[in-house]
Amino acid sequence: MKEISCKLLVIGSGPGGYVCAIRAGQLGLDTVIVEAGRPGGTCLNVGCIPSKAIIHAAEQFETVAHAATGRSALGISASAPAIDFRATVAWKDGIVGRLNAGVSGLLKKAKVKSVLGRARFRDGKTVDVETETGIQTIRAEAIVIATGSAPVELPFLPFGGSVISSTGALALDAVPARLAVVGGGYIGLELGTAFAKLGSKVTVVEAEARILPQYDADLVKPVARHLAELGVTVMTEAKAKGLSSKGDTLKVEDAGGREVKLAADRILVTVGRRPVTDGWGLEEIDLDRDGRFLRIDDQCRTSMRGIYAIGDVTGEPMLAHRAMAQGEMVAEIVAGHRRSWDKRVIPAICFTDPELVSAGLSPDEARASGREIKFGQFPLSANGRAMTLESDTGFVRVVARADNHVVLGIQAVGRGVSEMAAAFGLAIEMGARLEDVAATVHAHPTQGEGLQEAALKALGHALHI
Ligand code: FAD
Ligand code: NAD
Repeated sequence: MKEISCKLLVIGSGPGGYVCAIRAGQLGLDTVIVEAGRPGGTCLNVGCIPSKAIIHAAEQFETVAHAATGRSALGISASAPAIDFRATVAWKDGIVGRLNAGVSGLLKKAKVKSVLGRARFRDGKTVDVETETGIQTIRAEAIVIATGSAPVELPFLPFGGSVISSTGALALDAVPARLAVVGGGYIGLELGTAFAKLGSKVTVVEAEARILPQYDADLVKPVARHLAELGVTVMTEAKAKGLSSKGDTLKVEDAGGREVKLAADRILVTVGRRPVTDGWGLEEIDLDRDGRFLRIDDQCRTSMRGIYAIGDVTGEPMLAHRAMAQGEMVAEIVAGHRRSWDKRVIPAICFTDPELVSAGLSPDEARASGREIKFGQFPLSANGRAMTLESDTGFVRVVARADNHVVLGIQAVGRGVSEMAAAFGLAIEMGARLEDVAATVHAHPTQGEGLQEAALKALGHALHI
């Protein structure tokens, strides 16, 4: 097969890789992208998008199921809903398919050449791709590693049979009657909540003292409360120990050291993700590591000249929007622009019910960094729009420097608050002060008014509490 030479080669077409390739193409760089699976990577095929589709379907199901109890305060009645989960999954697959085609189309429009196959470094400038028709060798002046991450497998609970990863959970053909979830982090709680709404009896087994340990305790409390309302059992400081020989019982050591047997039709293991540093010839180029991840500098350069790395393979937070921002930056650097990583904030959202958003520092993190702070918190129970959405839990909180009022962090918990992440990120990135947020006219009635009120509260003159 004829060798390909190009300016930029991107390995992996997840959100990091495909955004990098599109931007490089726009900048006129001769770019090739190699993907072993489907365009869009984890995020689009088995991550962000399909999980949010299933979460939405579960919300719709729960709404009808609630109306069917005859307890709807809105006066809506319905008969008990049924779900054909195969049809739900097919609908989700349709969305994924449309987005696969969308990414391919955008790459084509940017004149990026796509090669389907598994890439492997031969040396720092040469990669061999195992394609359906043989080995395609590609030589490139610059190479971007965007190989992403994969689910962590527990040695005593290997994936297979009743033990599934998030990928398996998003492709089930029926809602499991009993679902045990090992790991009460992002995926375990997003999908655990969805399956609880769809009718599964869910038990979450979390090793730490509380669920979602990466978020501050006050934010997580409303989530824990609602999980209990949904009938989800949460075991904290609990360790999964293994499976019964029939595969239908999960053995757990609870916080008191006692063995508990959890009968389960499916066991969803969501104990984190690992960077994909294997299978592409890392040993040929011997890049420096930062723990499990590839070490990068503030321009996403690895320890070898001309080789960049972006996205989940480079570290936390393993989020799609971080990967995309790195991808865009690296394309511009390869094109000769002066760029380096200077972002103030990478917002994080957990799509539980209620949703969590965190941008920048929490009050405790800000204090721990030695700063004097001011903060204001506004309860969404005092927000008109939240009431019309039947949502009376949650709050918006703004954290700022005490001396000059520059906003350091904004967090929220509540129904639908994920859409506020844009305002939170923008305020921090633009260096807004409490006075800027408070002086901005916020449209009424929206939950976003909670942000303005939280800033006013920090300034000592909230209007609606
Ligand atoms: P990936 O998306 O993992 O893509 C890497 C690509 O590289 C893959 O397509 C892979 O096939 C390819 N590849 C690997 N090795 C090779 C090779 N040798 N040759 C060719 N191709 C190769 N993040 C969010 O920000 N918001 C969310 O709501 C969210 N929800 C999630 C839900 C779930 C269930 C999961 C699992 C993840 C979720 N994430 C979410 C995380 C998000 O998916 C990742 O942060 C993101 O996909 C990372 O992008 P990436 O480009 O680094 O890698
Ligand atoms: P996670 O790190 O969010 O949560 C893993 C949880 O498992 C932690 O709470 C941890 O304490 C617990 N745990 C670890 N080992 C355990 C064990 N042996 N027994 C019981 N509990 C154990 O990981 P995840 O949920 O697998 O998600 C992986 C990553 O994917 C996330 O960190 C995030 O970067 C990304 N993601 C993001 C979103 C989003 O942005 N909304 C959604 C899903 C996934």
